[in-house]
Amino acid sequence: MKTSLASLFLISTLCLSHCQGESKSLSQNLVTYTIQPMLSGTQQVLQVEVKVAVPKGSQQFDFTYLNNSWGQNDLYRCLDTILSAHRKLKAVKMPGENKISFQGKLPAELKFSYHIKQDFEGEIKHENSYRPIIQAGFFHVFGHSLFMVPTSFQAEGHPFEMIVNWKGFPSNYAIHNSFGSQERQQRFTIKNWGEGTVFVGGDFRLHPFKVQGKNVVLAMRGQWPLFSDEQLKNNLEKTVQSQRAFWNDYSQAYFTVVMMPIEGECTKVGNRYSGMISVGGTALVNSFSTFCTNNQCTDLSQFDYLYNHELMHNWLGHTIHTVGEEEYYWLREGFTDYFCYQNLLKNGFFSPEKYLAEVNSRVFKPHYTNRVKERPNSEITYNNFWKDRDFEKLPYRRGMIYAYYLDGKIKQASKGQSSLRNLMLDMLEMAQKGKVIDTNDFLALSKKYCGSDQSESFKTYILEGKLLQPEDFVLPQGLSIAWSEDKTFLKLSKEPAADEATWQRLTK
Ligand SMILES: [Zn+2]
Repeated sequence: MKTSLASLFLISTLCLSHCQGESKSLSQNLVTYTIQPMLSGTQQVLQVEVKVAVPKGSQQFDFTYLNNSWGQNDLYRCLDTILSAHRKLKAVKMPGENKISFQGKLPAELKFSYHIKQDFEGEIKHENSYRPIIQAGFFHVFGHSLFMVPTSFQAEGHPFEMIVNWKGFPSNYAIHNSFGSQERQQRFTIKNWGEGTVFVGGDFRLHPFKVQGKNVVLAMRGQWPLFSDEQLKNNLEKTVQSQRAFWNDYSQAYFTVVMMPIEGECTKVGNRYSGMISVGGTALVNSFSTFCTNNQCTDLSQFDYLYNHELMHNWLGHTIHTVGEEEYYWLREGFTDYFCYQNLLKNGFFSPEKYLAEVNSRVFKPHYTNRVKERPNSEITYNNFWKDRDFEKLPYRRGMIYAYYLDGKIKQASKGQSSLRNLMLDMLEMAQKGKVIDTNDFLALSKKYCGSDQSESFKTYILEGKLLQPEDFVLPQGLSIAWSEDKTFLKLSKEPAADEATWQRLTK
């Protein structure tokens, strides 16, 4: 899953190396938080103290805290006990506007505190896993549900700085998040708060490793009956190595993956276990976060797709930004899935047989038989995406199938010299220079690599949502796409001529 918060605060990262003149305004855009564990009655909560300089003469200062996000509603139920340190100055909660407003005579330095609490009881399940989870022994909270952030800092479109002090936690209590591991005092710059962050603590087990000298940490908790921490770490390491090679980008100094167990029934029937497997994740700044049922049904193979998909977003989504959110999911989710499956095949997570079985059963068949398969791109909206499972999957599958089409065109036009990967590397370079990608950028790159204008195919197969037909695809020798016997869906198949070179050409 990919979250849909980013459109709120789409901030250009253009000025990173040209910002000397702005260092003054940057240091003014500094907010300090001190977080402590606390009991409120019998409930474990996090107390957050905030300190921020307020512009002289201000009569109002607002903080952003999202009430509805990532499919969760009423998150203000988790925000409690806002106490101002200044007499007569009160905070007004405005959930409808996603803000908390301080109004009146403001001091030069505004100080206040608030509590963040878990607002549900019982087991942690898929449905409530995106809410703050704060219990005795551990916590797991996404940044937008932990921090009230000055609204003006985000609106200005400049980076801002956060200092976070972790106070009063036991010495054996892990403190771990999107910005560092086991640091009780943190200071970091935020380029785009809307991209999402995760903060965890407590009984998480931390497994660090290095890729070309750069730190990566797997943080996990709970017992996992079918695999060891070490096995999962090894798979993650292989995934990170292969994707950094794919993007030819080893620049990230720190990256982390958080794995949180959730409940799901799995029972033994005869000699076999059967029940619920739920795995999901979301890509974040310097990190991604995953929720998985830790039962006898969830084995190591469940993480192959999840890790490869979420990590791909580190580039496609978190480095390559798009001007819109859901309307660009064909690229951000669909192309992510295309390269995710390619990497799974190329790096030995999937055999060719498994690759074919997975893309047919998870992409081609469900897409061509989807109730909403031919609905236009414009109907892929926040509401449809989060409320309707068929709509949620639509951009993933439509985008991935279009990627097969486009990759084939590029390989054909270049006689195998270039592929869709080259187009993506160009897009990455543009994004690293600060360009926020739009449809025109994509079409210009497509034209460059296909040698022909793709506006028409893009309009037909992405915007209008028409279905690609078997004859539209150009595939490497040894592979074919044809209608299923009952003519209800397209199927990717291997022919007798398929050999090692077939798979190499496909994943080039
Ligand atoms: Zn995704």
